[in-house]
Amino acid sequence: MTALLSTEIDFDQLLQKVHAIGKSVLRVHAADVDAKARFPVESINAMRGLRLLSAYVPESYGGLGLSVTQVAKVCEALGQYCGSSAMIYAMHMIQVACVVHHAQSSDYFRDYLGELVTDQRLMASATTEIGTGGDLRSSICALETTGDEFIVTKQAPVISYGEDADDLLLTCRQSADAPADLQAHVMLRKGEYTTEALSNWDTLGFRGTCSSGFTVKASGHVQQILPETFSKILSQTMHPSAHIWWSALWAGIATDAVNLARAFVRAEARKTPGETPISAIRLGEVDLMLQEMRHNMTAHARDYQERLSSENPDACEEFGFAIRTNNLKLSSSAKLVDIVGRAMLICGISGYRNDSKFSLARHLRDAYGAQLMVNNDRILKLNATMLMIHREA
Ligand SMILES: Cc1cc2nc3c(=O)[nH]c(=O)nc-3n(C[C@H](O)[C@H](O)[C@H](O)COP(=O)(O)OP(=O)(O)OC[C@H]3O[C@@H](n4cnc5c(N)ncnc54)[C@H](O)[C@@H]3O)c2cc1C
Repeated sequence: MTALLSTEIDFDQLLQKVHAIGKSVLRVHAADVDAKARFPVESINAMRGLRLLSAYVPESYGGLGLSVTQVAKVCEALGQYCGSSAMIYAMHMIQVACVVHHAQSSDYFRDYLGELVTDQRLMASATTEIGTGGDLRSSICALETTGDEFIVTKQAPVISYGEDADDLLLTCRQSADAPADLQAHVMLRKGEYTTEALSNWDTLGFRGTCSSGFTVKASGHVQQILPETFSKILSQTMHPSAHIWWSALWAGIATDAVNLARAFVRAEARKTPGETPISAIRLGEVDLMLQEMRHNMTAHARDYQERLSSENPDACEEFGFAIRTNNLKLSSSAKLVDIVGRAMLICGISGYRNDSKFSLARHLRDAYGAQLMVNNDRILKLNATMLMIHREA
């Protein structure tokens, strides 16, 4: 395979193409996706066209070999056009990162990465479980293994794009007699599992993620179990990549809200030449908040990238890093609501309307989901526990 994307110039060109599909595809279908709570098939196919689904797969497999910070820029760009499409992309990338970081020692997963590149497969995640809620660190369901084969059944209250994904990464206990926190992370390929609906997805926001609940019943070969415990995968990859890439797409939603507010203030300014509209002061205020939000995310993405590049994966398990990762999520998810709310204050009734070109209704509804994706109170409590032991040097 030839290297597909090795320079910053190539990356800048890719980012321009991402913005181009954002304008011509994601933004065009965003309202319909939101209104019908339907899977944004046009957006995901446009991403496939740019080979974005294998953006984090190393170049040796034919992927784009992007870094954590570059994927964050892609998520941020997509978030400006359709929050649901960007969220699906970020969630897929988190699953890809789990395989890239933790499963390349396995023939099965090396072959999988090749197929992911060729077929631009879409991966979903089943971590949440009925009975454990948002506590990713424990499972009730368990693998039942006979020889080289396993079966597993999980009651998953939320699986985003569960019906449209090609593959699913699922957490469960390693065996029926394993404690709740001794978990395996298992790859289930389409055709190897069945889904029976438990609930539908008619929510306030992120409606296009189609995150219905399902009972998942699966069988497979033990080689489909990632060759590392889920606790390591979570602390080294899923936890940091989720909070960074989610924060990135939330920054994209916030950016679009501020851009709409800017357009509104400019339109107002044109009506009264020589006079700065009062809303311009609010624009200055909200822009400052957006800068803080973006810088916070970018700085943490760089920190994570450096830790990964140090070839000491344990560096990602330090308490200080975990606390800062949680702080990023807490801060970004709260700032998103604040920024969109302030943008709405600027746009006034035009922002409040569903049928205006300045409408911020979808942005605000999506924004409220951010604090629930692993509840902020749950995260604060975890941080409080770690902070009793950890002190920054
Ligand atoms: C748009 C969206 C997409 C999602 N996609 C997926 C997906 O693809 N796959 C997936 O597996 N999940 C997904 N989720 C689920 C999500 O990440 C959460 O884990 C899940 O929503 C938690 O549900 P909950 O709020 O009922 O539970 P909880 O997190 O259990 O929270 C319920 C309440 O209990 C409180 N609480 C419970 N335990 C504690 C504790 N120990 N400390 C402090 N407070 C506590 C919380 O503060 C909150 O008030 C998605 C969620 C959203 C919003």
